[in-house]
Amino acid sequence: MRIGGEPVRSSHPQDVQLPYDGSTVGTIFQADKEIVDAGVASATAAAPVMREMTLDERAAILRGAHAKLLSRKEEFARAISSESGKPLKEARIETDRSALTLLFASEEAHRLHGEVVPMDASPAGKGHWAMTVREPLGVIAAITPFNFPLNLAMHKIGPALAAGNSVVHKPASSTPISAVMMADLFSECGLPKGALNVITGPGGSIGEQLVFHKDIAMITFTGSAEVGLRLRNLAGLKRVTLELGNNSAVIIENDANLEDAVPRCVAGSYAHSGQVCISVQRIYVHQDIRGEFIDRFVEHARKLKLGHPHDNATDISSLITEQEAERVESWIEEAVQHGAKLLAGGRRTRATIEPAVLADVPANVQISCREAFGPVAGINSYRTLDEAIALVNASDYGLQAGIYTRDIQKAFTAARKIHVGGFMINQIPQYRVDQMPYGGVKMSGAGREGPKYAIEEMTESKLICWKI
Ligand code: NAP
Repeated sequence: MRIGGEPVRSSHPQDVQLPYDGSTVGTIFQADKEIVDAGVASATAAAPVMREMTLDERAAILRGAHAKLLSRKEEFARAISSESGKPLKEARIETDRSALTLLFASEEAHRLHGEVVPMDASPAGKGHWAMTVREPLGVIAAITPFNFPLNLAMHKIGPALAAGNSVVHKPASSTPISAVMMADLFSECGLPKGALNVITGPGGSIGEQLVFHKDIAMITFTGSAEVGLRLRNLAGLKRVTLELGNNSAVIIENDANLEDAVPRCVAGSYAHSGQVCISVQRIYVHQDIRGEFIDRFVEHARKLKLGHPHDNATDISSLITEQEAERVESWIEEAVQHGAKLLAGGRRTRATIEPAVLADVPANVQISCREAFGPVAGINSYRTLDEAIALVNASDYGLQAGIYTRDIQKAFTAARKIHVGGFMINQIPQYRVDQMPYGGVKMSGAGREGPKYAIEEMTESKLICWKI
């Protein structure tokens, strides 16, 4: 762990394993109550220091971290790949994106501003002048998941520091290594001691201690809907942002460009073995092109190469644990028992599952209505656009969705009627660039990320009024 820039150990070591083969890739320590308190105390002491720094000083540290991360890209990509089982080529992309997230955060630090309020629009405002300023909240607890261990942490830490807060970061227990490396990297870039503390250990105990801690002003959480909902209920008056799951759907109209749509949907369904919150899980294809779409999709899915995550050629490696792979396997079996057709893949070897293509998946099975978080795509057909829109909306989740069509009328009808945080036209719902507003509705969460939007959540607007 890192508290006040210094290494901290407890008497409870825990091995970190490569999910693909169970080999040990590192050892971390589980925090106890005293260590969590020390982490929060360190962040509390650093909060006034961060608050007093100029915007440009904060921006310079974030720019420095951006450059340093890029210069150590291979080292970080290997760490991400080892702890999460993500194929190395995807881990390199995650490292590049993490650096860019920090750069966007540094740019937003330069743009942090309030506004002048037109007080004399009210009769009682005559002779008054007012402005708002955006002030940091203080100490922010960042709790992050395993699937993008670095970039999703940077989506919290970058904006929090840009806005002048200090941070206690609790990474997922399975993927803590890149988080600790990043804390050291920030120290090398001149971040004040205590502005970023990393504590590791089980979310159920130390995560909840953070949520209850009186000195934590905000919880920013990315993870499952079950945990997110629990944290929200426990957090009382603390500010909470929740980036949760989805069972992303895409509509393929009969005028869609399949040359483009099919490879994108395959990439969106199986990247990181489907362990992406916006993984393409439900594909609704117009009945006129059902056969052609399925043939092309299966052909592309079969080309994906399974293997060790450190092999540069690997497209599909393992899920995060063998238990998770068993769960996904059982959901595929359930869908087949209820009438779905397994057209390709689905076979499990330890924690790895071959990319599974299902067709005609009943609406009431888990693969349809819950978040699969595995390499599975379900393809169903529809007759009218209204029917497809209703199918997409028949979900407890609402993070992102999309449509492929050449008809602008259909595209905007779907964009207006589908209830999600982000809608993609001629792009898969798994699409994200790091500066865009990102977040969900319904069970997919509350609040938005993307540095500009996260900073709004991580600051308080204060009014300063002056009687002239
Ligand atoms: P998770 O089990 O909910 O864990 C996420 C984080 O919360 C981990 O650090 C975990 O610690 C911690 N945690 C667990 N129980 C806790 C509790 N009671 N109190 C406080 N913290 C607790 O999720 P995951 O399996 O790591 O990640 C997968 C989920 O994240 C999926 O549902 C996915 O859709 C979602 N996700 C959403 C987004 C988005 O931006 N919307 C992005 C990526 C992932 P431990 O590891 O120690 O249990």
